[in-house]
Amino acid sequence: MKIIIIGAGPGGYETAIEAARRGIEVILIEAGNVGGTCLNEGCIPTKVLCRSAEVLEEVRAAEDFGICFTDPLAGHADMAVDKECACDNAESAAREGSGASVRRIPIDFGKVRQRKSQVVEQLRSGVMTLLDNRLITLIHGRAVLKDAHSVTVYSPAMEYTADRIIVASGSHASPLRIPGGDLPGLMTSREMLETDHVPGTLCIIGAGVIGLEFASVFNSFGSRVTVIEYCGQILPRSDSDLAKRLKQSLSKRGIEIIVSAAVKSISHVRGTVAEDTDANAGVSGRDGGEPGYRVEYECKGKILAVTAEKVLVAVGRCPNVEGLGLDNAGVKYSAKGISVDDNMQTSCPTVYAIGDVTGKVMLAHAAVSQGLRALNHICGQSDRIDLSLVPSAVFTMPEAASVGLTEDECRERGIACKAVKSFFRANGKAVAMGQTDGFVKTVVAVCPADVPDKTVVTESDGSPRTERTDGPRFRDGQILGCHLFGPHASDLISEMTALISRHATLEDLRGIIHAHPTLSEVFR
Ligand code: NAD
Repeated sequence: MKIIIIGAGPGGYETAIEAARRGIEVILIEAGNVGGTCLNEGCIPTKVLCRSAEVLEEVRAAEDFGICFTDPLAGHADMAVDKECACDNAESAAREGSGASVRRIPIDFGKVRQRKSQVVEQLRSGVMTLLDNRLITLIHGRAVLKDAHSVTVYSPAMEYTADRIIVASGSHASPLRIPGGDLPGLMTSREMLETDHVPGTLCIIGAGVIGLEFASVFNSFGSRVTVIEYCGQILPRSDSDLAKRLKQSLSKRGIEIIVSAAVKSISHVRGTVAEDTDANAGVSGRDGGEPGYRVEYECKGKILAVTAEKVLVAVGRCPNVEGLGLDNAGVKYSAKGISVDDNMQTSCPTVYAIGDVTGKVMLAHAAVSQGLRALNHICGQSDRIDLSLVPSAVFTMPEAASVGLTEDECRERGIACKAVKSFFRANGKAVAMGQTDGFVKTVVAVCPADVPDKTVVTESDGSPRTERTDGPRFRDGQILGCHLFGPHASDLISEMTALISRHATLEDLRGIIHAHPTLSEVFR
C-alpha cells in the first residue's frame, strides 16, 4: 500500500507518521514549511505571543502578590525589571516608586519575536525528526492531481502514483470584499505575527477566535485596541452566556468591542501617530507621519468610524481548493471546501480530504482526527473516533473553551436540556491564584427515562455502529456540552471532552474524585 498526502500541516504530517507506523509507504508533498499554518503562522506563534502577554500581566500584578521591585527598607528603586531592559522610563519609574516601575514595564518586542521564531524552529525540527522514516518521502513542491491515483509536483515536474491520495491543503485568510478591503498594509494573522513593533492603535475586524486572541495580546502589549464585529455577539457560534461574559471581561481590560457593526469601507489617512506604548520604546521611525487607516462601519443605523495605525482583518478562512487539479480526479468541491463523507472520502473513491480544506471544523486537532479516520478507512479498520465532538479553545486572557452542544443547539435539535453553572470565584485554587474571573456552564439532558441507544447498520460500509436514533436519545443528566471561560480553560476542557465522549452524566462526574485544591474542582 502506498499513499500520497498533499500538505504537511498537522493533519498531513500526523497522518503520514501514523501511516508509516502501520507499514504504509507515504509520499508527503509540501510547498512551504512542514507544520503548515498551525506551526508556522497560526496556533504556535500566537501562543508564544500569548505567553509573553501573560508574563507581562503577571509582572504588572506582582505587587498584589507581595512581590516588590523596590527595596522597601532601603527606600530606593531596585528596578529588578528595568535593569534587564534598557528602559526609557526607568528614571521616572524610580522617581515615582515601585508602583510606577511595575505599571510601565518595557517590552523588548524584538526578543518576543526572536523567541517566537526559536519555538517555531524547535518544533519544526521535531516534526522533521518524526518524518525521518524510511517509509516517508518528503517532497518539496506544489502538487496537482493528475487523475485518481497520481499527482504532478512542480517544479521541476515530477509524477507520483499511489493507491490512495489524501488532500490536506489547508486554508487561507478570507479577504474582506469592501471598498478599501485590499489596501496595502492591511494585515491578516500572518502579517500580524510578523509585525516588528506594537502599533499604538489597532483596529481588528472580526471578533472570532483570531480577532479576540490578537486583541487580548496587543492590548497587554500596550496597543489601544478596537474590535468591530458584524454579528450581535463575539464568537458568534459559541454559547451566548460565555460570549457575553468574555466580552465584559475583555472590555474591562480596556478593549473596545463593537458588535452588530457592518464594516463599509477602509481608507488611508495620513499622520496617524504611533502612540508611545512601552513596547515601542526605542523603536526608530515611529515618530508620527506614518499612514494609518480609517475604518467606516454602520451600527444601529449610524455611520461611524475608527482610525487606527494598523488594521487586522480576521473574518474567517477559506479552504485551499484552487490549483489542486481536483477536477482531474472527479473530486467534487465548492468554495466552501471539498465534499467528503463520514470517512473523509471524496466523490472520487481513491481520494480523501482532511482538515481545513474540507471546510468542516478549521482546527488542527480536528484535522489530525480526520486523518486517522481516513487512514482507518483506507486500511479497512473500524474506529471509535467521534468527529462530531471537537473541543475548541480561545487563548484570550482569561481563556475560553467549549465542547459539545450549547443550549441553543439543543433547542434547535429538540433536545430537552438544562444548564448548570459554577464560578471560579468559589474555587479555592482560583482565589489563591488571583484569577477568579470566569465560570463553567455545563449543559445536561433532561429525560424522563433512560432509553438504550439502537444498533443500526450504516449505509456506507455495512458495518454495525451504535447510533442514537429515535425517542429520548440521552440518559437523564447526560452531559451534552460544556462552555467555560477562566484560568486554564483550554486545559480544563479535556476532562469534559472525555466525559461527554463516554456519555457520562452529571452524577458520574460527581462520583469522580478531583484533587484539592485544583481548578478542575470547578466542575463539581
Ligand atoms: P471566525 O469564523 O472564527 O471569526 C470571524 C469573525 O468575523 C466572525 O465573528 C464573523 O461574524 C466576523 N466577520 C465576518 N465578516 C465581517 C465583517 N465584514 N465585519 C465585521 N465582522 C465580520 O474566523 P477567524 O477568527 O478568522 O478564524 C479562522 C479559523 O481559524 C476559525 O475556524 C478558527 O476556529 C480557527 N482558529 C482557531 C484558533 C484556536 O483554536 N485557538 C485560533 C485561531 C484560528
